[in-house]
Amino acid sequence: MRWLVLAALLAAVGTPADAMAQPLPAREAEQTRVVFPDSVQQGAMVLGKVPAGSRVSYDGRDLRVTGYGTVVFGIGRDASGPARVTVTPPGAPPRTVEIAVTPRDWPLQRVDGVPPATVDPPPEVAERIRREQALVAAARVDDTPRTGFAQHFIQPVEGRISGRFGRARVYNGRPGSPHSGMDIAAPRGTAIRAPADGVVTLAEPDLYITGGTVLIDHGHGIGSNFLHLSRLDVATGDEVKQGQVIGAVGATGRATGPHLHWGMTWFDVRIDPQLVLARAAGSPVPGTRVVVPPRAGAGERIRIVAPPGSRVAFEGAQAIVPAAGELELEAPAAPGEAELVVERPGTSRLIFRIAID
Ligand SMILES: [Zn+2]
Repeated sequence: MRWLVLAALLAAVGTPADAMAQPLPAREAEQTRVVFPDSVQQGAMVLGKVPAGSRVSYDGRDLRVTGYGTVVFGIGRDASGPARVTVTPPGAPPRTVEIAVTPRDWPLQRVDGVPPATVDPPPEVAERIRREQALVAAARVDDTPRTGFAQHFIQPVEGRISGRFGRARVYNGRPGSPHSGMDIAAPRGTAIRAPADGVVTLAEPDLYITGGTVLIDHGHGIGSNFLHLSRLDVATGDEVKQGQVIGAVGATGRATGPHLHWGMTWFDVRIDPQLVLARAAGSPVPGTRVVVPPRAGAGERIRIVAPPGSRVAFEGAQAIVPAAGELELEAPAAPGEAELVVERPGTSRLIFRIAID
């Protein structure tokens, strides 16, 4: 690939006579704005911003978009990147956002002293467990327009983190499935607070494996589950506000001592509540701002906005975005569709299609 000689191109920009150097009209720039993190970890909840009214799909699913253009999806424990999101703003061609997925370590955790009957249930309770699992599956979150998922989540109980998401677990020497949430050790009876707004989709005081169990739907497929409760303060169908007490810590079901197990899901994908809390605590979630016009005239100058240092590939040529964060390119001479790839510092890529009139 040949490299554009940018100095010459940029020198031509900004002279008063150069009408092509006019910035994009503000409205058009806003229309094309798509913001996602550059990279995410396995188990992450990913929030993105798209122009309101866009069609957005990820992993074969159309994502619900809020009136403000917020979307959310989850990255599984064993997902490998990049995660590809397709965004079609109203009246514009689709573009693909590629988000790098950072792998994590999943150390083995041995859990001993678990009630043997919950590790190796007697045959007479197998039917009960099946029935209860069906009940929980039926209460799993649908795609609802609630927006609790976009709040800054709070930790439902203060206490020592006694179990982390994703660890491979061995119960009384027998391999089990990876840990599906975070465990917080706290005295029996400690109040549990809703981490974000939602609606209770299941409240069962005595399930065989999970004991006192509450499920909350936070909207757009994001849900929380709270296990081993000693007391339930909500019922199925209750609306809950962030911080509202929903029950109390216990050791019911398969538990070795009083603690809260808090799990989170995006539909059937389990995600890590600790990553959701880290985001709420303001740890940096790298964002980006890339503006590319959805269409251009044949042979016209195209102005794009991208983080300095980004690599841009267009029509067989490549260029690096200079410190000013803007770059001008020449549209192909013939009408059609042109592909423009922006690779920002780091590993994520944005792929745009520009209609050439
Ligand atoms: Zn747990």
